[in-house]
Amino acid sequence: MAGAPRPLIAGNWKMNGTQQSAAELRRMIEGARDLAARVDLLVCPPATLIAGFAAIARGSAIAIGAQDCHAEAAGAFTGDISAEMLKDAGAIAVILGHSERRSGHRETDADVRAKALAAWRAGLFAIVCIGETRPEREAGQTIATVGRQLAGSLPDRANATNLVVAYEPVWAIGSGLTPTSRDVAEVHAFLRAQLVARYGEAGQGIRLLYGGSVKPSNAGEFLARANVNGALVGGASLKAEDFLGIARAVA
Ligand code: PEP
Repeated sequence: MAGAPRPLIAGNWKMNGTQQSAAELRRMIEGARDLAARVDLLVCPPATLIAGFAAIARGSAIAIGAQDCHAEAAGAFTGDISAEMLKDAGAIAVILGHSERRSGHRETDADVRAKALAAWRAGLFAIVCIGETRPEREAGQTIATVGRQLAGSLPDRANATNLVVAYEPVWAIGSGLTPTSRDVAEVHAFLRAQLVARYGEAGQGIRLLYGGSVKPSNAGEFLARANVNGALVGGASLKAEDFLGIARAVA
């Protein structure tokens, strides 16, 4: 049987960053040299910075990704950006179905699935986010919620090279609160079983990230758990020191 998938630490910069943020990216690139052997690193800045960041990061241990895409390749969609455009700008991946898109832009599982297919069409890998709200957790609906989101958001024919799944409890995002690493391990074990049931052996290689208030001080605990193949990091990915500190927590 194949070993555990190679860990991925992905940073979601959200709507933060200007041209001046290139200095932070350069600090990340510098500090990432000794990490390349054991972990994949991805920075997802706002769309305005993708091309510039990709040029700076070319040949380094840090790859550049995006935070969303439109499902269509081109057309009359004012303000939107296609997966093909992101690829053209130098992105290798795109985050899809983040809870801030699901709640703020009313994205459904079907929307996320269509965007994942668009990402594949363009040659990007998709990082599909799922996670329960606080009321869902309190009602004992965590597994039912993530199971429904997983089934509805993922296209057929997913594999280790075209898909990453990020489990992000909505209540843990940006709050400083986290589930216990045991809770995360339970959800990830369920997600792994679902991926294997749907995709067979390919489901074993699909990386499962935990996201939600990950910091250098708590990353090791999550990353040590079975089926936690990395982290999706928001706030702590904006500073090189914190982002690299999380990456160093990969055993
Ligand atoms: C996120 O937005 O995906 C996230 C995990 O944010 P934070 O790390 O700030 O909780």
